[in-house]
Amino acid sequence: MDTPNRQDFHKPRIGAELTLDRMAEKRADRAWIEQRLANKTSRFLLFVDLSLAVDSDADQDNTKLRWLTAGQIEQLGADLNDTYLLGCNPDGQAIFAASLSEAQASAAPGGKEALKPLVDLRSLAVQGALPDAELSLVGMGRALAAWHVSSKCCGRCGGYTRVNDAGWQRKCRACGQEVYPRSDPAIIVLITDGTRCLLGHHKRYTHKFYSTLAGFVEPGEDFEGCVRREMREETGVTIGQVTYMASQPWPFPHLMMVGCWAQALTTELTLEEEELHDARWFTREEVKMMMEEKHPEGFTVPGPHSIAYALIKSFADQPA
Ligand SMILES: [Zn+2]
Repeated sequence: MDTPNRQDFHKPRIGAELTLDRMAEKRADRAWIEQRLANKTSRFLLFVDLSLAVDSDADQDNTKLRWLTAGQIEQLGADLNDTYLLGCNPDGQAIFAASLSEAQASAAPGGKEALKPLVDLRSLAVQGALPDAELSLVGMGRALAAWHVSSKCCGRCGGYTRVNDAGWQRKCRACGQEVYPRSDPAIIVLITDGTRCLLGHHKRYTHKFYSTLAGFVEPGEDFEGCVRREMREETGVTIGQVTYMASQPWPFPHLMMVGCWAQALTTELTLEEEELHDARWFTREEVKMMMEEKHPEGFTVPGPHSIAYALIKSFADQPA
């Protein structure tokens, strides 16, 4: 299997390099965090039920990040102690994220109006309105907010937890257990028999949309073992060599996608139909047409915000 050069690999838009410093060494410094919260230049991204408050015109064109002040965040009912430090810009400006439920935010005076419009990160990514670094910053905030939403109670004793370390830890009020933001590993795989690649159509996808196959890493399993097991279960294909290509933080809710190329030793398909509606072998020519939305049967592939696109592109770009 001739794998592409990792240096040439397309960098997905979500997961692109951030332009801010995460300031990890300052998160537990409460006095410093309080100074940043009180500083007039500090700004906040607001997530409401994990959708982002943005600025855009009536047609929802020209979408921009909406930067709120500490005062505006408090007016919407958020406790500044429950906000998360995303980092500092090169000029020292601190960037935080706040997360509210729609019920909380709309109960505040003027809250309903202040929330419009709210956009999900997937839509923002598909629209392509934001620079890559901003899209990645929103992804970081969304993954962190999603972890907080699902970590309000202690997994050990069931007690309530509270935000610690500027959003990078939660601590149980009852037993003191500390928990940290998590990323769940999943593999995503470009399977090739040398001249074709295998793409699947999931039941949850819109019509004629084909993508690389993916699966969750189980306890006690390495990435290569996960690729071989998942691909055998989903497609019946036996996998030989597995090569790591790149990774992508995927904030739905907080996955770490591990992108691999995998060599197919067999090509006959036995689909796990509960999940996978269809899977097919596509030639490079077909894949190029799908990327350009010119396939005669109308088949398409994911957009450039995803590592799925990067894997598919790396196959399409190889010399025939
Ligand atoms: Zn506890």
